[in-house]
Amino acid sequence: MSRVLIIGAGGVASVTIKKCARLPEFFDEIYLASRTLSKCEALQQEIGEDRVKAVYAVDADKASEVEALIVKIKPDLVINLALPYQDLPIMDACLATKTDYLDTANYEPKDEAKFEYSWQWAYQERFEKAGIMALLGSGFDPGVTNVYTAYAAKHYFDEIHYLDIVDCNGGDHGQAFATNFNPEINIREITQRGRYYENGEWKETDPLSVREDLDYQNIGVRASYLMFHEELESLVKHFPTIKRARFWMTFGEAYLTHLRVLEGIGMTSIEPIEFQGQQIVPLEFLKAVLPNPGSLADGYTGKTCIGTYITGIKDGKEKTIFIYNNCDHAACFEEVGAQAVSYTTGVPAMIGAALMLDKTWHKPGVWNMEQFDPDPFMTLLNEHGLPWQVIECDESPFKPA
Ligand code: NDP
Repeated sequence: MSRVLIIGAGGVASVTIKKCARLPEFFDEIYLASRTLSKCEALQQEIGEDRVKAVYAVDADKASEVEALIVKIKPDLVINLALPYQDLPIMDACLATKTDYLDTANYEPKDEAKFEYSWQWAYQERFEKAGIMALLGSGFDPGVTNVYTAYAAKHYFDEIHYLDIVDCNGGDHGQAFATNFNPEINIREITQRGRYYENGEWKETDPLSVREDLDYQNIGVRASYLMFHEELESLVKHFPTIKRARFWMTFGEAYLTHLRVLEGIGMTSIEPIEFQGQQIVPLEFLKAVLPNPGSLADGYTGKTCIGTYITGIKDGKEKTIFIYNNCDHAACFEEVGAQAVSYTTGVPAMIGAALMLDKTWHKPGVWNMEQFDPDPFMTLLNEHGLPWQVIECDESPFKPA
């Protein structure tokens, strides 16, 4: 019998819990806890008390609160779908109770938009000694993009040399400006300096200053901007033959204009300011006035295309492949009432959890997705709503280094 505790009740969690609820063979008992109890209750009501056994309010910034909840529920696995700030307190609670852990985004300190795995990798020895496992970044990017890379390394290449992860949202939600996942986390990510890996070094660029116009499958040509993304850090560590690794995301002109204005007037800052006698963080205030990403789902049209271009050597010859998924916003809404960005993150979280629970992916320690056999994960992607394609390209759309 398996028992999971999901923490967080936002856009991504609502997809994961619905997907888990349909798979009693992996998830016998599901428990849900988050900061706002009413959101957990609404999900429990929608899914049914037979599948979501109980719901709780928890402040996951406090390891002691999470620990007490774990002691009460005794889950086999905690699925962390709250925010990156809560990764470490939840990992501490898992260590104290010897419980497995999974998340979809790396830890970030709240007062510093800094994206790196160092804090979570530092738990490796303690998790190993405790005989428990942490699976880091089981979303789409990071997550599926790491598994795509491992799949390419296993089946298509002797050595991988160039990696370009591309993330296109070709959808239209009809709002002037909105983010597709938590606005605070999203804006922290895209306003930081760009960073990519080349010939053993990390190189920096001004934020969103490097652009390529790329042709995305079933979407068309979209302006794509170089950004740092956390999976680059683990992929270059685990595939040391990589000479260059970059990440690209599409943004429309209207989105960038709004972002520039908001940045220009200080609304994206994470430095607290004094406002009517209290300290507020401008970005937190901005989050409060922007649409809730979950509310975009109804009427959202178009598709996403997220994938990985990989160039390397097979049998002495250079070749390039593209592995990708197209996900349709309206189809996601029809299936689980969510838009495609929540869906493409929530489904891989469910799959990672299923593989951990049935011990297909299980070893004590702290691991990134590419450190496991990609094949079972790739099979489950096809079965649970995120089918993928591999294209052998005549040439890479990216110029060599
Ligand atoms: P949401 O803001 O919609 O949901 C976050 C949830 O976490 C909310 O229910 C929120 O509670 C809860 N929460 C926040 N703080 C606490 C706390 N201290 N204690 C308990 N619960 C808390 O975000 P998303 O669903 O869009 O994103 C969830 C995660 O997925 C994020 O970490 C994000 O970075 C990650 N992500 C990963 C992607 C990938 O491909 N790997 C892509 C997209 C997202 P409340 O309702 O009270 O606000």
